[in-house]
Amino acid sequence: MLYRGPLSSCNYGCVYCPFAKHHESDAEHAHDAACLERFLGWARAWPGELSVFFTPWGEALVQPRYQAALAELTHLPHVKKAAIQTNLSAGLGFVEQCDASKLGVWATYHPEWTTRARFLSRVQVLLERGVSFSVGVVGFPKFADELDAIRAALPSHVYVWANAVKSLGYDATERARFERVDPLFPYNVAAHDSLGRACAGGHTVISVDGEGDVRTCHFIRDVIGNVYAPDFAEALKPRPCSAAKCGCHIGYVHLEHLGLQAVFGEGILERAARISHSYMFMPSRSRPGKRSPNALASSTR
Ligand code: SF4
Ligand code: SF4
Repeated sequence: MLYRGPLSSCNYGCVYCPFAKHHESDAEHAHDAACLERFLGWARAWPGELSVFFTPWGEALVQPRYQAALAELTHLPHVKKAAIQTNLSAGLGFVEQCDASKLGVWATYHPEWTTRARFLSRVQVLLERGVSFSVGVVGFPKFADELDAIRAALPSHVYVWANAVKSLGYDATERARFERVDPLFPYNVAAHDSLGRACAGGHTVISVDGEGDVRTCHFIRDVIGNVYAPDFAEALKPRPCSAAKCGCHIGYVHLEHLGLQAVFGEGILERAARISHSYMFMPSRSRPGKRSPNALASSTR
């Protein structure tokens, strides 16, 4: 369950960020807190298994309420995973309050807003606590050296990704540079044909906003139900994708024909691929949309 409440502020100000330029008023913070608390109340009472992924419009982990939410969710017996997308700028003392085995962190390194040493010091905490996580950068060529550096600094089992900026196009040299670090970069560079294709979106994976409105995913605006309605689960069923393309990792990772659910396994929410750094995607022999047989053979789990 991908939760995205109204919070849309960030302590960084990346020029390439399409959102997070808002500064919440006290009233807006109170509204976001009320939405979150209502959602947590629902999650506590939900009778089945549940995984929650906070995918805010901005940076939520700097807000103590989201740290407390993660801590609580990880301790609920029916919650398998509680994860968050973050710039990892917040202190990580709250991890002590979590069941770290059920915490997931998708951490983006923004070299223009923090130092490598500071970012890696946060990552070290995640490593020491046994948290499942991935790290990466936005795939601008100007960040490639920093990507190489964090790759070199981290154990090989940590998946390090680059998020393609599709408008850049990328020449062969730039692609190869990112693929050296992120063997799944060819999937991310592509906009996958998705119309009519089977996807977990709307069935076992859903997007929920602060009002409880449920959508197939973050990219299809039609509301299919509301979690606070007693019959909401009736809306969940296999449904073919209604969008022409799916180009964002958070979406296409659930497209069945890509086979990426098996590559990410239990780390799918926090983008923690179960591949070793030694595995290299072979774009000349494989292509996005066709899973290389090596992808699973080289899985570390
Ligand atoms: S850290 Fe993330 S949310 Fe914040 S401005 Fe940068 S890209 Fe946007
Ligand atoms: S393929 Fe992408 S756009 Fe289509 S339903 Fe799945 S996540 Fe949504």
